[in-house]
Parts: sequence; structure tokens; C-alpha cells
Amino acid sequence: MPGIWNVAAGSRLAIHSFTAPEDGWLVNSHIMEFPGQLFVVDTQYRLSYAREVARYAAELKKPLTRVYVTHYHPDHLLGAGEFNAPLFTLPNVARKIAAAGGRVASEEHEKIGADVAVIARQPDHQIEASDETIDGVHVEHRLLRGAETEDALTIAIPDEGKIIVQDLVYNRAHVFLGERRFDTWRASLQAHRDLPYREVFPGHGKPGDKTLYEEMEDYLDYSEEALHKSTTANDFKQRILDRFPNYGCGLVLDHQLRFLFPHEGSR
Ligand SMILES: [Zn+2]
Repeated sequence: MPGIWNVAAGSRLAIHSFTAPEDGWLVNSHIMEFPGQLFVVDTQYRLSYAREVARYAAELKKPLTRVYVTHYHPDHLLGAGEFNAPLFTLPNVARKIAAAGGRVASEEHEKIGADVAVIARQPDHQIEASDETIDGVHVEHRLLRGAETEDALTIAIPDEGKIIVQDLVYNRAHVFLGERRFDTWRASLQAHRDLPYREVFPGHGKPGDKTLYEEMEDYLDYSEEALHKSTTANDFKQRILDRFPNYGCGLVLDHQLRFLFPHEGSR
């Protein structure tokens, strides 16, 4: 099954979003197309999908000047070596990649083989929360703390009403809950509902609008309760599948069981 491309047009900036197939965890890479250059936001899990994104970017015939990795999880990080542009992350994400990137890459490579990188590419530049003007487009780099992971970057384009929130939101896809930050995650979702951005670009599944925030909150509410009620990993997984039978990203649901139920040993 191939990946899916969605293009969101804008007056000065288009966003081309690639959603990987199920074996790539439905993870998104977004190509921000400015008048004179391209940025890529997140780099895929499998190398073959990273190459597809790089190929598509090359066909746009504009220089690729930046690659961002929003947070250190393998599905956003491990394809970074396939992009020929400097890699930018938040300082805390750079520290995480330095500390844990090698382990993350070797664990995933072990599972999948040649289509997953054996080492994690290290960032070239650190970026703080900041405002910048790129080819006349106002770009806001924002810090997202305590949601799906401790530190993540989001990118807003105020004049276009767009925000790339990555794993703050999964669209109809099972969510990585391994870091268990339910309360602060919900607070971030509520805060984002009040922001003026109508178009929301998630980390997994198709881009959408502000209703994605509410759907995410529902998923978090249900899964937090399911976690309290479940005595085993299988019990938890079944409750989630019963409630969200049509959601994608089954591999993420499986991937996190060892974080949620560490006492069950090898998975
Ligand atoms: Zn992710």
C-alpha cells in the first residue's frame, strides 16, 4: 500500500503532507513550500518512505534548506539521514537524540531490518521558540511541553491559519501513550483550541481542523480509564480496539505495550 499525499494550498505557503502506510505507522512528513525554498518537518520511520518524501521534494524544484525533527521518537527521527539539508531540533530534543538516538535506532533496526536506519542522525542546529520571516512568510516556532512527549516543536504560520502540531494530535490512529502525560497533554489540547489556527497538521493521519483536538481528548480520556481498569497488556489493547475499531496505527498500539506494562517482561 502506498503512502498518501495531501496538499494544502495557501497564499504564500503550501504544505504537502505525506502520510505513510500502516507499516510506516501512518506518520506524517510535511513539506513546507515557501516561494523560494522548502522545509521538511519530520523524516519518517522507514527509509523507503523517507526517500519517497525526499524524491517528492526534489520534484518541487526548490532548494531544501531545512529539515526539522519535532521530537526524538523513532517514527519522526530515523529517516533524517535521507535528506540533504541541515537538521534542526529544539535543544532538549538534540540532547535526547544524543543520549537515546543510538538505542532507539538499533532497537527498531533489529525489529525491521534494512528499511530502518541503524544509527540516528544527530542535529546540526538547535532552534528555540522564535519568530522568523522566511521568503516573506511569518513562521512561528513554538515549544510544546508535556504532551505526547516531554519536549516537542510545533510550527505555526499565522497569516495562513495553519499549525503543524505533530504528535499533539493523531487523526484516527492509535496513540503512543508510553509517557503517560494525560493531564498536561489534555491541557495542551484545550489551549490549542483557543489558538487562531484553523488548519491542523497532525503527526499521524490526515490533516484536518480543530475538531481533531476534541477527538484526541476523547481518545486520551478513554485510554487513561482503560489503563486503570486493565490488569494486562492484552486486556488494555482489547479495550482500545473495542472502542476505536476503525483506527489505524495498530503497530503503535503494540509498540507501546512494553512501556505501559513493563512488568510483563519481554514483548
Ligand atoms: Zn509519532
